[in-house]
This record gives sequence, C-alpha cells and structure tokens, in this order.
Amino acid sequence: MRLGKTVPILLPVLLNQTYDYLVEGEADLLSGVNEAEKLTLAPGDFVRVPFGRQERIGVVWFEEIEPVDEHGEIKSKVVDPSKMKAVIDKLDVPPLPLVSMKFAMWVANYTLSPVGMVLKMMMSARQAFAVQKPRFGVSFTGQVPSRMTPARQKVMDVLLPDGADAHDEIAGSSDYVWSKSNLASEAEVTTGVIDGLVKAGALVQAEMAALSMAQPRPNHQQPDFKEEQIKAAHRMRGIGNSRQFQVGLLDGVTGSGKTEVYFEAIAGALDAGRQVLVLLPEISLTNQFLDRFKERFGAKPASWHSAIGEGERARIWRGVASGEVKAVIGARSALFLPYQDLGLIIVDEEHDAGYKQETNVMYHARDMAVVRGSIGGCGVVLASATPSLESLINAEQGRYAHIKLRTRYYGAELPEMMAIDMKKHPPDKGRWLSPLMVTAVAKTLAEKQQALLFLNRRGYAPLTLCRTCGYRIECPQCSSWLVDHKHKGALSCHHCGFKLHRPEACPKCDAKDSLVPCGPGVERISEEVRELFPEARQAILSSDLVPNITALREVLETIHSGEANIIIGTQIVAKGHNFPLLATVGIVDGDLGLQGSGDPRAAERTFQLLHQVSGRAGRMGTEGRGFVQTYMPDHPVMAAILSGDRDEFVAREVQARQMLTYPPFGRLVALIVTGKERPITELYAREVAKRAPRSDKVKVVGPVEAPLAVIRGRHRFRLLAKAPRDIDMQQYLRHWQARLPKPQGELRLTVDIDPYNFL
Ligand code: ADP
Ligand code: ZN
Repeated sequence: MRLGKTVPILLPVLLNQTYDYLVEGEADLLSGVNEAEKLTLAPGDFVRVPFGRQERIGVVWFEEIEPVDEHGEIKSKVVDPSKMKAVIDKLDVPPLPLVSMKFAMWVANYTLSPVGMVLKMMMSARQAFAVQKPRFGVSFTGQVPSRMTPARQKVMDVLLPDGADAHDEIAGSSDYVWSKSNLASEAEVTTGVIDGLVKAGALVQAEMAALSMAQPRPNHQQPDFKEEQIKAAHRMRGIGNSRQFQVGLLDGVTGSGKTEVYFEAIAGALDAGRQVLVLLPEISLTNQFLDRFKERFGAKPASWHSAIGEGERARIWRGVASGEVKAVIGARSALFLPYQDLGLIIVDEEHDAGYKQETNVMYHARDMAVVRGSIGGCGVVLASATPSLESLINAEQGRYAHIKLRTRYYGAELPEMMAIDMKKHPPDKGRWLSPLMVTAVAKTLAEKQQALLFLNRRGYAPLTLCRTCGYRIECPQCSSWLVDHKHKGALSCHHCGFKLHRPEACPKCDAKDSLVPCGPGVERISEEVRELFPEARQAILSSDLVPNITALREVLETIHSGEANIIIGTQIVAKGHNFPLLATVGIVDGDLGLQGSGDPRAAERTFQLLHQVSGRAGRMGTEGRGFVQTYMPDHPVMAAILSGDRDEFVAREVQARQMLTYPPFGRLVALIVTGKERPITELYAREVAKRAPRSDKVKVVGPVEAPLAVIRGRHRFRLLAKAPRDIDMQQYLRHWQARLPKPQGELRLTVDIDPYNFL
C-alpha cells in the first residue's frame, strides 16, 4: 500500500462534493523522485485529474466538501487507498483566489446549486486552461521613420504623445509590447500601416506578455464637478479606495451625472492599485460605455459578455487572475471572474431585472455583487435613477450609504407627464395613437425636435385571429400566441423561438383572407406613423430589427445626429442611452405592465420602466414633455408616474409589501415542476406540496398551473413559499428536498430563490 498526501479536488460538474486525489510527487519523495518532478500543490491550483474514464480539469479546493445523501446526512466516504487516483499534473494557470472559492461556496449554498456548477461558471474560458502559445506584437524602437505619412503620424502620436506623462512613457518605451491590432485600432489605422513601420525600423517584432493592454489611469481626465456632484464624487472616492466592504446606493435622476460620479469610485480603487468591475444589464450599452471610460481613464477596460470570442475570453480570464487586467466591464457573468484583488464593484442600473439569471445557477447579480464585496473586502456601488425597493430599504435602514443626485447636469427639468385618457380620446378605428398623441408629435416635428414613441412589444401584432372561425394562432409547443413579425414575414413564438411562415389561409378552418392581426407592436406603430407623418424619418429600436451591436450603433447615430425625427422603441430605449435632442416622449400603452400577473414587483417594474423612458426626454436643456396613453389614469401607479412623485410611489409600495410580507420584507422561493405529461407533472407537484415541512412561519401556496402553462411541450406547475425575513429558507428547503421522492424520468423540479419571474 502506498502512503501519500491527498488533496480535495472540486470539479466543474453537477456535483456538490470534492474528491480526494493523491499527490504522487510528494508520496514518492521517500522513494527518491528527483526534485524536478515533485508536485507541490496549494489551494486554488488548477490540476488535471482522472475522473471516470476521462481526464478533467479541477481545482485544489481549500476545504473538503462532504457528499450529502438524499436525507441531508453526510455520507461517510469509504476510502480505499489502493483505488485512490492521483493528480496527473498541475496547469500553468494563475490559481483561483481563496476569495473566489469562498464566494463559490456562498453562492452555491444560497441558490441551492451544486458548488461544481458555480465553479463551472468561474471557469468559463476554456482556452485559458490550454497550453498558451507565445504571441507576437510590436514595440517601439525609439526611431522615428524617415518617411512620414498622415497614417504613420497617427501611430507616432500614440507612441509619443504630447506632454507625455509617466504612463505614456511606458506606452512609447521599447519595453512595452503592443498587439498589432490594438496599436492599429488605438491609432485608427490599418494593420498594414503597422507592418510598414516594422519595415521602416520604427517598430520591431517582440514576444508579448500573456496580456498586453494599456492601463487605465485614475486621473487621466477629471471632469469639473458641480454642486451636489462634488460631495457625491468625494464619497465615491472613499468607497473606491477604502479597502473595506461598504455599499453605496447612488440614487440620481437621469442625466444627473451618475456615471461621471461613480467614475470617481473607480479612480479611487485604481489609485489603491486594486481591480474594478462595472456590471451593466445589457451588452448593447457596452460600446457607449467603453468610449466614456476611455475618455475618463485614457484606456478601455476589458469587456466580458457572452459575445466575446474564445481567445479573448482566455486572455481576459488570465489577466484578471494575474492582476494585470485592472478594469472589467461586463454582463452579470463577469462577477465570477477570478479577480486577484478586486477593490470595487459598480452595478449600473441596479434595478434592472436582467441581473437575475434564470437558468442553471439562478442568482441575482446585484445581490451577489454585495456578497462578493463582503467576502472580498471591497466597495460596492449600486447606481440607478429608479432604485429597487430592496436597495432603498437597505439604504433607509442604514446598511447602505445613500448618495443622492437630485438635479440634472444640463439643468433641464424632468419632463412633465400628461395622461391621455383613451376612453375620452380614443384613436380612430384600426389606429393606436390617440388624436392628442398625434397632435403632440406633430407639434414636436414642427418645432424641429425629436419625438419618441415607446411600446414594450416587439413585432407587428401580438395576436393573429381568424375572422371566420375565431381561431387564434398558437405556438404548437407553448401555451402562447404567435407574434406577427411582418418585417420578417413570419409568426414567431417569444418563448421557444418557433417560427411559422405567415399563412394565407386560416390553419384551422382554411378560410382565405380571413386572418387579422390584433393589437399593436412597434412595427405596427411604425406603419401608423409612416401614414401620419410620411416625411418624418424613423429610427426603430427593437431587438428584432437591430440584429447586432453594429446595427444598433448605426441606429443610435441617426438619433444623435438628429437625422431621425421619430424614435420608435421597445424597452431597449429605457436603458441608459443618451438621446440629446429628444423633446417629446409618448408612451403608447401605459397599462401594459399593470395587468395582474401574480408578480409582486409588477407595479414597481412598470413605474421604473415608464420613469426611465420619460427620463430620456429633455436631457440636454431642451424642455421635455411626456404623454401616457392609458385607460386607467387614476390607477395609483399611473398617478405616481404622472406626478413624478417617486417618494409617494415608494411609500405606497412599501406599505403594500409590508402587509403581504413580500420582498424585501419577506422571503419568497418558487418551486417549478415541469414534465411532458400533464397528469404526472401535476401529481408530482402535489406531492411536493404535501411534503412541505410544517412551519408556522413558512407559508406554502400551490401547486397551481403556471401562467405559461406549457413551454417547449413541457407542462408547468408552480408553488410559492413565503416567509418572514429572519427565516433561514435554505435550511427549510434542504429539509423539504430531503423529504421528496426523486423526480422520476424527465420530470424536473427547479428551485428559484428570490424569484423575479412568475410566469
Ligand atoms: P446619468 O448616468 O445620471 O443619466 P450621465 O453620467 O450620463 O448621467 O450624465 C449625463 C450627461 O451630463 C452626460 O453627457 C455627461 O457627460 C454630462 N455630465 C454630467 N456631469 C458632468 C460634469 N461634471 N462635467 C461634464 N459633463 C458632465
Ligand atoms: Zn413556443
């Protein structure tokens, strides 16, 4: 029998335990393995190990995680040393920091997910673990080319800028290796120009460090803050460089300079030599953000989201782990990068529901950012013009610092909002815009200003109906209607992506020319506007019609330049884009989010969305106006939107949620049972309800059929558990799960802690 040291290894798979592996180099030391072959391992090291019949990459974990059986009892591991396998080798990768490992444990525990799945998220950069090929770039020889062209001059301006400070000397020094493409894009020339400069002797080929990028400088270009911004910026600096966990809620009206102000927190963290992360809810916002960041800090941050290519992912992952990458901007998944020394996390548009991940590990990135901050001793800034009730309450109760910006930088007031009562001023038949709205748009155009029409519905019409037999065209796999996308000539399902060519005859009764679109989507509003204002140029912002970031940039450009007169858009327009020339905002269907859906945050979300949309108007000093088409002008949410009185709205919401012990005053957990056969699915859902542990604090309701009863052919039933804040819901759920029969066959049970989706 061999005696040896073992280490616990966690693998990025659907398992909630570590496995012990032998470390052979050490075990064989006695038998005289030579020094060079000795394998020394420390927690965080990435290793290759045999697993089943495969080899896999895992991490030497900082503690043993014991397997737990279905009753929640720890299974004693039967260790047969002769069967124990050995670590194959250690990878040449920066180790996973201890903070990351602790964070993984926390997230797994909280979301009731196997910690292996959280590790998998942390390792989502496959090529980072492959053998790294040397990359070649260029560095400056110090020799200015004898023949100068305008393009070459641009490169020289990058290498030898005027008034070079310490950083620029680095950029121009022969120690600094540029990737050819980075240098070319920085100088705005083609890589051919770079090649030419190599031939001319100004640049020389050189091997690059794993990652080579210009570093942001905290004081590159500071704005002049005014009035209330000064104090806020000062507090931001403090959060950025304090080296302590603290959370600031940056609560400022749209256009108040939140971004400029939280850049000071970034400057603080960079000054302290630490890394920063900025989370954005939407990748379409990154380009605009990258430019602003570069203006302020002199270099772009690394950007991380699902559309980043494998090679780039690997470089960023390694750079973050080694500490070379100082600033990352990204989608929620960027929270799981292996920061060597993260000093600050900014969560921009913190109220945005896009921060909740709805698959696999179901976490909320804003909440986990706060957790990550507390584990890693770093500052967290949550920024929004319409903070979530959760964050407002945390600020009120003193857990977060509340930093407010009440005035818009360019002085303009928030637009005055007016209701258009659709009962009193209905649109003409077959139209969706009230005469009052049409007049408002016409007036705006006559004054050579921009108008925005907002409708949170993609496509042409949400429903297609047969006039002859009354059939509504449904998705064959989901319990939902197909949405008419005239532009694409197809009806499509927004839940599963099913597409159907727009039929000529009714699929049910075969009647010809009998299908009529019902209700409006943005495409239909666009059609109506074209008929009403044939001369006006439109810019449409809807994810279907703007297929990628480049296309989005082009549309935004027509808006910024004033080329577009009328903007028509879905919720994309609510998210942080600047529309400097916009004067009038028209909300086509103000009631859309208010119809009950069992979602405790429905009112809050509608308020936030409409408030954000109307805040797009009048940002640059033009006086803004807002109009809301509604059938319920007296509804409290509508009244709050119209009066712009956020405090009043929040006070009402707080009261309502307190009464119902809804978040943030209580905890919610959703359990969703899905399966192919309806009766079996329902039966299991009932069984789940029956086995709920008795508790006078936790209330379980359901099962009920989900509002979206079928998705992709799977029937869905929901249960909801509700409890006061002081209850340990994870503990309760573990007990519950331990009492459940395992779902058989293709039945699935999903547990969603703090659900945001109630469909
Ligand atoms: P918010 O994020 O609160 O909507 P932004 O940070 O986007 O606001 O600022 C709105 C506009 O005002 C931007 O064009 C920004 O550059 C400008 N701005 C805000 N504060 C300043 C400042 N102190 N100096 C110069 N420009 C500013
Ligand atoms: Zn479908």
